[in-house]
Amino acid sequence: MNYKEVRDMIVATGKKLKLDDSTIERIAEPERIIELNLPVKMDNGKTRIFQAVRVQHNNAKGPYKGGLRYHEEVNTEEVKVLAALMSLKTALINIPFGGGKGGISVKPKDLSKTELKRLTESLARGLADVIGERKDVPAPDVNTTPQIMKWFRKEYEKVVGKSEPGVITGKAFNDGGIKVRDEATGLGGAAVIQELARVLNKKPKETTVAIQGFGNVGNHLAHHLYHMGFKVIAIADIDSGIMHEDGLDYHETYKKMKSGNKLSECCVCDIHGPSKDCLNVGPKEVLEAECDILVPAAIGDQITKNNAGKIKSKIIVELANHPVTDEAEKILEKKGVMIVPDILANAGGVLASYFEWQENVEGVKMSYEEGQAALIKRMKNALKDVLKTAKIEKTSLREASYIISISRIAKALKI
Ligand code: NAD
Repeated sequence: MNYKEVRDMIVATGKKLKLDDSTIERIAEPERIIELNLPVKMDNGKTRIFQAVRVQHNNAKGPYKGGLRYHEEVNTEEVKVLAALMSLKTALINIPFGGGKGGISVKPKDLSKTELKRLTESLARGLADVIGERKDVPAPDVNTTPQIMKWFRKEYEKVVGKSEPGVITGKAFNDGGIKVRDEATGLGGAAVIQELARVLNKKPKETTVAIQGFGNVGNHLAHHLYHMGFKVIAIADIDSGIMHEDGLDYHETYKKMKSGNKLSECCVCDIHGPSKDCLNVGPKEVLEAECDILVPAAIGDQITKNNAGKIKSKIIVELANHPVTDEAEKILEKKGVMIVPDILANAGGVLASYFEWQENVEGVKMSYEEGQAALIKRMKNALKDVLKTAKIEKTSLREASYIISISRIAKALKI
């Protein structure tokens, strides 16, 4: 998705909502773009300059909120897209945040740990004037970790001269983070699937799910779906995958994978008595699996015009960002496939960030179990809102999500 496409979507939705032109324009363009040249002292004593950007898209509903990514391909155009989608996501799940995104153009693997720390500190100094717990609250994203969040917070606090844990989320538990954060996106996806199954009168034990991607999101999703009683019949990561029509035993499969096996070597059929063996399945094949619900949870652009016709699932839940291209979506729509869009399905992560911020800034404490329950409830409520709007407006779930988000942002705009 490029920014023109995001802009066109916001304008079209705004017109549908009969918003006036200036309101549409205020949502269609970012409020502020901060571009920085960050000087960093390298281990060899020389100073290198890194390009960084923070896009503050919209703060009508609350502080800008969104990740910081460290990746060689970070550029302002892409960060603008991601920041706008964050505004829509936070509005959709109805939390008092706006949207932002940022990043540094860097290959983090080329840097030593001390260089990475100095780079992060340089970023914190560069952004210190425009961020803050009530202004703009960054978080982890691609290649940024709780350790990076800790370095960032410490340097920011040095600049402003006070303790401010709520300036950043995604911190480790003992640095002011919360326990539910690590699993939040997968748990949120599982909550959406559980609610969808209830609405569609599908019993979990008769509902088959295939998952592409077994990283943070795919793993926690598989874990929670397994405990909710769903039949996860296939999981594939980049190099291999495993499939069994009777459903995979999450814990045994995970245990085997953790002890150094590829997913394709994780068949545990022998543990459960006489049964057919598991089949191997690749990352592309898993998308074409015979299943009720397909979950792309790896990277973007996985379902394209080339394979959309081969998708057998009637429901796709987008846990990865933008896994279905626009061309593919048109083909799938014609086939009657329901797509639960990324801005809804993978919003569990930012929801947990909100809980962390609430604890840091407003002193609202939740136990781990309360955090899980609150996250599940809010994700299910967001899905209910989207299903209701899609029915009333006769639109796809993606369009319904945009309608809800944009109308909420428009209502919150002042002046
Ligand atoms: P991750 O890096 O932990 O895991 C991604 C996994 O996908 C890895 O195991 C990788 O090997 C695998 N992978 C890469 N290319 C693949 C391919 N072509 N086929 C199959 N597997 C492939 O990342 P994650 O945090 O699990 O994020 C997954 C997706 O969810 C990303 O699109 C991310 O933007 C999105 N997302 C994540 C969060 C979050 O909280 N982690 C929140 C919102 C959205």
